[in-house]
Amino acid sequence: MARNTGPSCRLCRREGVKLFLKGSRCNGEKCALTRRDFAPGQHGQARKKESNYGVQLREKQKVKRIYGVLERQFRHYFKMAERSKGVTGLTLLQLLERRLDNVIFRMNFAGSRSEARQLVQHGRVSVNGKRVDIPAYVVKMGQEVSIVVKEPVQKRLGETFEALKDRAIPKWIEVDAKNFKCKVTAMPTKQDVGFPIQEQLIVELYSK
Ligand code: SF4
Repeated sequence: MARNTGPSCRLCRREGVKLFLKGSRCNGEKCALTRRDFAPGQHGQARKKESNYGVQLREKQKVKRIYGVLERQFRHYFKMAERSKGVTGLTLLQLLERRLDNVIFRMNFAGSRSEARQLVQHGRVSVNGKRVDIPAYVVKMGQEVSIVVKEPVQKRLGETFEALKDRAIPKWIEVDAKNFKCKVTAMPTKQDVGFPIQEQLIVELYSK
């Protein structure tokens, strides 16, 4: 599956916000954004006044980068959100939050979404007892997600869970950490995203 394979820190620097793409390493002093809080590239430090379009575009890029989704797939989620009965912007965020790789990330068994994506791609995850290796799979309400691993991976996952104990698990999933599984019991809210996102800007951008 296509994904962004460039240097992660450049993405944060471009958006001017910590996107936490490298898991626990993002909290240390080595964070590139802490050391160089300006956009990458030759003109990164130049002052620029963003147009309306520029602001909308940056918001969309930021959300895509948080979830590690490329343009084509992101637009697919947007179309799904547009067709739904709910509010388009919020539905878009709910679809992204319920991606299978994000659910694993939210369970706190992976430090970053890319780590979670690897678990899925390596066939270690099942939904309602059936193996699913598609990170973009959108988990539905009531479905049960399990990580199916043996020792020593179980031990490693347990250590990750312990190391992330200060990271809050959102209320829309019920996690059974002992058995490496969770159930989706509600729809994610905007607050569950954990980033200040103005999803309306994305709706405006795609509505042009
Ligand atoms: Fe972003 Fe800092 Fe993490 Fe790099 S270390 S991915 S700049 S938050």
